[in-house]
Amino acid sequence: MLITLFRVLAVSALLLMSVLPAFSAESFRVPILLYHRFGATVADGMTITTPVFESHMKYLRDNGYTVIPLRQLVDHYRGKAPAPKPKSVVIVEDDAHKSVYSDMLPVIRRYGYPVTIFAYPSAISNAKYAMTWEQLRELKKTGLFDIQSHTYWHPNFKKERKKLSGPALDQLVITQLRKSKARLETELGGRVDMLAWPFGINDDYLIGKAGETGYVATFTIDRRHTTPSDPVMKLPRYLLVNADSGKAFVQLLEGNAVKRNVAY
Ligand SMILES: [Zn+2]
Repeated sequence: MLITLFRVLAVSALLLMSVLPAFSAESFRVPILLYHRFGATVADGMTITTPVFESHMKYLRDNGYTVIPLRQLVDHYRGKAPAPKPKSVVIVEDDAHKSVYSDMLPVIRRYGYPVTIFAYPSAISNAKYAMTWEQLRELKKTGLFDIQSHTYWHPNFKKERKKLSGPALDQLVITQLRKSKARLETELGGRVDMLAWPFGINDDYLIGKAGETGYVATFTIDRRHTTPSDPVMKLPRYLLVNADSGKAFVQLLEGNAVKRNVAY
């Protein structure tokens, strides 16, 4: 009886293993580093001085870190790529600020690191602070930059939710997600299926809408590493500020980040 039971269990375990994705067993912890703006001085809470940014890149290189494309990490969550190696790091930027072109690009070229930009198309070639479509195309041409979606005009979905009724809210959310993806794909080519939530605001309703409109991964601003147990539709990112330099940057990479309240 016992032996039979054991056999049943063993067979079940084998069956279970055969249906699991090939790469699921490996463990990893990858920090996604989120930047916004660069400059000579700390103009606002979201600016990191260009020398501090460069010091981050130098630290990664000198200390054996590998910067992997965000897509590679997402592919792993989707069972399409092996787990990231130890000391893997991802670099992203939100808002497509013009200082990405003037300050981040030269540093990134020197280091050859992959970067994913989350842009909201209403600002591109329009707002003074943002890059132009031409500049985004130039970034893409380097082969180092991928451009993904940050909605169409960066709405605050928490505020919109208080103002709008069910169908009107649905309409706004779906338009923001669809229009951004379509515009980025038309202007820049390639596939846009990753989304960074404006202000990090998300919930099951919004994540459901992102799935319905063709996104396969979305990103928050939870201040911690990604781990195998995180859902791919809710991956955390570290919103970096200028004080995240030197020892604070090292602690952050090691998973002991200083707590911060970042005001937008
Ligand atoms: Zn943003």
